[in-house]
Amino acid sequence: MAIELLKNAGMDLPSNMAILSARKLVHGGILYELSNLESAAWLSIPGNRSNFLEQFGAEVIIKDHMYHLIIENIPVSFNPTSPVATSEIERKGGLQPKSVIKARYIKPVARRNPNQRTTHIALSLNSKTSANQILQHGITIEGKKVYGCKLLPKPTRCLKCHTFDRGHIAAECQQEHDTCGMCGEKHCTVECKIDNAAAYHCVNCKSNGHAAWSRECLTFKVKWETHKNRNDEAQYIYFPTEDLLTWEMSRHTQADIDINHHQQQTYPAKQ
Ligand SMILES: [Zn+2]
Ligand SMILES: [Zn+2]
Ligand SMILES: [Zn+2]
Repeated sequence: MAIELLKNAGMDLPSNMAILSARKLVHGGILYELSNLESAAWLSIPGNRSNFLEQFGAEVIIKDHMYHLIIENIPVSFNPTSPVATSEIERKGGLQPKSVIKARYIKPVARRNPNQRTTHIALSLNSKTSANQILQHGITIEGKKVYGCKLLPKPTRCLKCHTFDRGHIAAECQQEHDTCGMCGEKHCTVECKIDNAAAYHCVNCKSNGHAAWSRECLTFKVKWETHKNRNDEAQYIYFPTEDLLTWEMSRHTQADIDINHHQQQTYPAKQ
């Protein structure tokens, strides 16, 4: 229907432009998937983009698809918010200008060890080709050759009831009370008086000795396996394109290590 609207408005669209799917997102947005690369390329031209937005009204924004990587052991001198630093990555890596959309530290700077010299970042790229190039050849950041792997989405856990099921967030949680992620009792996690990990009780697997967000939790491990098996991205080392080499299957090992190691709970742990 949206496409019809644009055609009626006299816009010159790619002949085979169509919307393949529309999916409602948790936070209220709608994600439209376009039929082909040609349509996406058409929409990336600023003039076409502004005409497109005019037809839809002010509340519509276009977000390009991003390809996320974890890059390991970056010198801490790297400034992820500096445009100079990200364009340096593009230049040194032989990537297209503006192909790095965003870089961020995985672990908050405040939680860094004072002697820490390197850290890991998440890097978001605007094309599969750029992301694959880094996956295959590594990249130089702050004068150091570094390597990465895909940053895969992890199963969603509600911060109020801690379940991984039903894919909801705390704001949509049906449970009336808060469940503590550390001891499993009926209070908010930040109010927990327990300061000893051995006394933690996980509400997901009902065992003691770890918090609800622990990557060692058996329930989490089962969820993570199922999640990966359902997630096409996790099946391949690269982001598959027309190039057959990018269809190499992944054995998950690297991604598992990275997810377990780096995507730890950012909830403030009790001291
Ligand atoms: Zn919940
Ligand atoms: Zn508690
Ligand atoms: Zn558990």
